[in-house]
Amino acid sequence: MKIICIGLNYRNHAREMNKPIPTEPVVFLKPDSAILKKNKPFFLPDFSQMIQYETELVVKINRLGKGISPEYAGRYYDEITLGIDITARDIQARNAAAGLPWELSKGFDGSAPLGEFIPVSTMKDVNNIDFRLEINEKIVQQGNTSDMIFNINELIAYVSRYFTLKTGDLLFTGTPAGVGPLRKNDNLVAYLGDKPLLDFMIR
Ligand code: ZN
Repeated sequence: MKIICIGLNYRNHAREMNKPIPTEPVVFLKPDSAILKKNKPFFLPDFSQMIQYETELVVKINRLGKGISPEYAGRYYDEITLGIDITARDIQARNAAAGLPWELSKGFDGSAPLGEFIPVSTMKDVNNIDFRLEINEKIVQQGNTSDMIFNINELIAYVSRYFTLKTGDLLFTGTPAGVGPLRKNDNLVAYLGDKPLLDFMIR
């Protein structure tokens, strides 16, 4: 399986990063070894001094598809969760300045903690859900999926022009504003609506 991630998909996050609002989705991949499940702890790696969180809605693809049109994209997923796109911001900044790829800053082991998946059918409107991240019981990030620049169906349509989507593939849909550093012994809890889906420690 593959993990497809979207960068800069919320205006307020693009603004805080001093990046222009994208006119097409910004796409990158993480390897499957990045996945962290079952609320296992994340271990701060020794190669970065600036590890940051990005809280994102994650969509699980449930069938094979290529060149999917936006109006049918809703048929290609039925479960979502929250995930953290853990980023080595210092490496990302260094590589971006040199015109180099993002993989080492975004795809390292454990850089994709995933919450418990829940059925889309239990939600009133997947394109209008509040979510938030609390670190040590303090809210650090809040978003609503209606603020995405490219919504879930548009993202599925866009990425499936380039990559055949397969059952089990994951789509990280981008983070709202409020990204920040992770420190040893932080406790992260991510809520979709009022439901905590992810709860883990930084070690
Ligand atoms: Zn991200």
